[in-house]
Amino acid sequence: MHSWTGPIVSVIPGAGGVPQIQDDISGTIQPSVVGETANLYVCGVTPYDATHLGHAFTYLAFDLLVRAWRDLGVSVRYAQGLTDVDDPLLERARATGREWYKIAASQTALYKSDMAALRVIPPDFYRGVVESIPAIVAAVEHMIDIGQAYRVAVPGQSVGALGDVYADTAADPLFGTLSNLGSSHQLRLFAERGGDPDRPGKRNPLDPLLWRAFRQGEPSWDGRTLGPGRPGWHIECAVIGAGELDQPIDVVGGGSDLVFPHHEMSTSHARALSGLEQPVRLTMHTGMVGLDGHKMSKSLGNLVFVSDLLGRGASPAALRLALISHHYKTDWQWRGRELAQAEARLARWREVIGSVKPQGPSAEVIAQIRAAMADDLNAPAAISAIDHWVSAAPLARERSPYAAADLRRAIDALLGIKLY
Ligand code: ZN
Repeated sequence: MHSWTGPIVSVIPGAGGVPQIQDDISGTIQPSVVGETANLYVCGVTPYDATHLGHAFTYLAFDLLVRAWRDLGVSVRYAQGLTDVDDPLLERARATGREWYKIAASQTALYKSDMAALRVIPPDFYRGVVESIPAIVAAVEHMIDIGQAYRVAVPGQSVGALGDVYADTAADPLFGTLSNLGSSHQLRLFAERGGDPDRPGKRNPLDPLLWRAFRQGEPSWDGRTLGPGRPGWHIECAVIGAGELDQPIDVVGGGSDLVFPHHEMSTSHARALSGLEQPVRLTMHTGMVGLDGHKMSKSLGNLVFVSDLLGRGASPAALRLALISHHYKTDWQWRGRELAQAEARLARWREVIGSVKPQGPSAEVIAQIRAAMADDLNAPAAISAIDHWVSAAPLARERSPYAAADLRRAIDALLGIKLY
């Protein structure tokens, strides 16, 4: 699937350090890349409520990682999935009377235009679930063959019908080691986030769906030996990630609400399919964005959308700056003043750094930005360093006509903010 047209990214002299990120599996700070190529998989949206600020915050965090890798000089292989068929999308279709695939197409287009507006570097491989179904079917068949998956009869279907397919979590001795949660916590999150712990016939309440046999009124595809149906949620990311990237994948990421069950399950599936104990080297998860003291969620009806803000005249650069001024790991609240503050900061930066007049030397502040981004993508610290330079710049004794241009390019390359 075509992603979106990416921004032209400035290149700056020298190179940044290896970005160190906090790994959620081990809880320790680890180098985000260990070889010449950095492999990244990020879960994409389910296209029925795109693109709210939580989505944008997440994809901007991984955009900062990609930019830091490019500045380091490694080559980047970045894959992103798109859950273009799943229960929430079908529920939205039923509730609105629209066709599910039309909702998916329109929301996917909106997501892409929002990402382009925010100057997010597109993934190298953008893969929808629907276009990946043959590979997912082959993976589920393989998991049955190696004893990692089993069939569960569908109530009301005839004896001998193929049924649904579930993964056997007990067959994976490392299941649970990504999220490190107690079993009652696991069960609660599984039930809240799309799981079906009470489904009769499963071996373990936590076993996740791999293939859902055809039901009346639901879309379905050829599942070969599985019978007609559609994929479960977690297997799609395991298959798309393994299909496009070298394993172990350096970083698998998404919002923090994906740690369990989604990334626990998809990593377990990837383990079964690859035979590797560690198909994923590190996981990186982003904080949740609330609104004025409340959780931002579709059930509360208080989602703030990128396209609405831009449509009401917000500048994409200010929105980007407002979002990245919060560290990617923090949970935080969107308040009305966020945009105005970012607009004011941008205006100040443009006035000083964007001017053609000679300014103070910038090598030191560029080094500070690089150091901040290598330190767990600390964009707020990078922004503070720029603020400091801007306030001190007119006083600098040594002046160079090139300094401001270098800094403009660095801010573009590393933070994705264009000042000219
Ligand atoms: Zn995923």
